[in-house]
Amino acid sequence: MTTYVWDYLREYAEEREELLDAVDTVFQSGQLVLGESVSRFEQEFAAYHGQPHCVGVDNGTNAIVLGLQALGVKPGDEVITVSNTAAPTVLAIDAVGARPVFVDVREEDYLMRTDQLAGALTERTAAIVPVHLYGQCVDMAAVTAFAERHGLKVLEDCAQAHGARHHGRLAGTMGDAAAFSFYPTKVLGAYGDGGAVVTRDDGTDANLRRLRYYGMEDRYYVVQTPGHNSRLDEVQAEILRRKLRRLDAYVEGRRRVARRYAEGLADTGLVLPSNAVGNDHVHYVHVVRHPERDRIIERLRAYDIELNISYPWPVHTMSGFAHLGYREGDLPVTERLAKEIFSLPMYPSLPQHVQEKVIEALREVIAGL
Ligand SMILES: *Cc1c(COP(=O)(O)O)cnc(C)c1O
Repeated sequence: MTTYVWDYLREYAEEREELLDAVDTVFQSGQLVLGESVSRFEQEFAAYHGQPHCVGVDNGTNAIVLGLQALGVKPGDEVITVSNTAAPTVLAIDAVGARPVFVDVREEDYLMRTDQLAGALTERTAAIVPVHLYGQCVDMAAVTAFAERHGLKVLEDCAQAHGARHHGRLAGTMGDAAAFSFYPTKVLGAYGDGGAVVTRDDGTDANLRRLRYYGMEDRYYVVQTPGHNSRLDEVQAEILRRKLRRLDAYVEGRRRVARRYAEGLADTGLVLPSNAVGNDHVHYVHVVRHPERDRIIERLRAYDIELNISYPWPVHTMSGFAHLGYREGDLPVTERLAKEIFSLPMYPSLPQHVQEKVIEALREVIAGL
């Protein structure tokens, strides 16, 4: 059987009864859209974060789109983010008509270089989207201090950082609002698409509820533009409620897998993930680095191991973003990483014997390079 970087079938086998009960609960409720399950999940996810508001949306990309709009970002504004991220971070900024402006990432932990924010600032800058990449947080003290000094909004991209902490504070509680994805592979994953925005601000919450519901004020049916149909599905919300109770256990499982890699791969020459100061990592993807990345991936196929790269093409070099005017060479660390990083199998239900097989295969392949 091929080993992939992610798989949910073992987890499903363990949780099947509860998940099927979640589906049945919704089907029997008589309310298939924006019913009890969405509002309960919103309350519970907000409470997990110690925040007053959570608005469920249809996916993580639209969590960023609606989050930016709810914070007042408009066409023509500039939004500072990174290019070493999932393309949807940038796509979402583009979709609101704003212009993504990139800073590079740090060589040691692949996170936003906050010392480059000042160089990216113009009079059109409206917001910063720090991406808590691979499961650990950006230096948020630097981001929020800079944002306050220049009157910018901060929307945290928490799609990879459910349950991550930064100097004790949960990801998603440090900016003006935070966008989450519940895409199945994420640390808290649905059985389909889902997303949410968490905020402490009443006005932002009201904006989000209008934006996800055609731009309508719920009771009065006054359409304001922009509006979307971006509701979190009731079935996914009920599944997420059940899975939220296990989030801390999922994170613990990922940490166990990460510790085994740290022990098994310590002396191989692979650059292993490093924890930035103050970060409790949740290991969404286990990204390692080696100059012979492509040969390693190719040779592991003979062992029936299919690895992945997050991400092989920096967003600023993708043809779909050519209109942003960036060139190869503009973000040297991001570009260098894209050629050397790759991801190892990482999910809480990864069996120890499968992981040991991966570690052994990697050791053999690297020794034979
Ligand atoms: C997954 C992801 C998204 C997009 O979420 P979807 O639910 O797939 O739309 C955005 N940003 C980052 C960093 C992601 O990893």
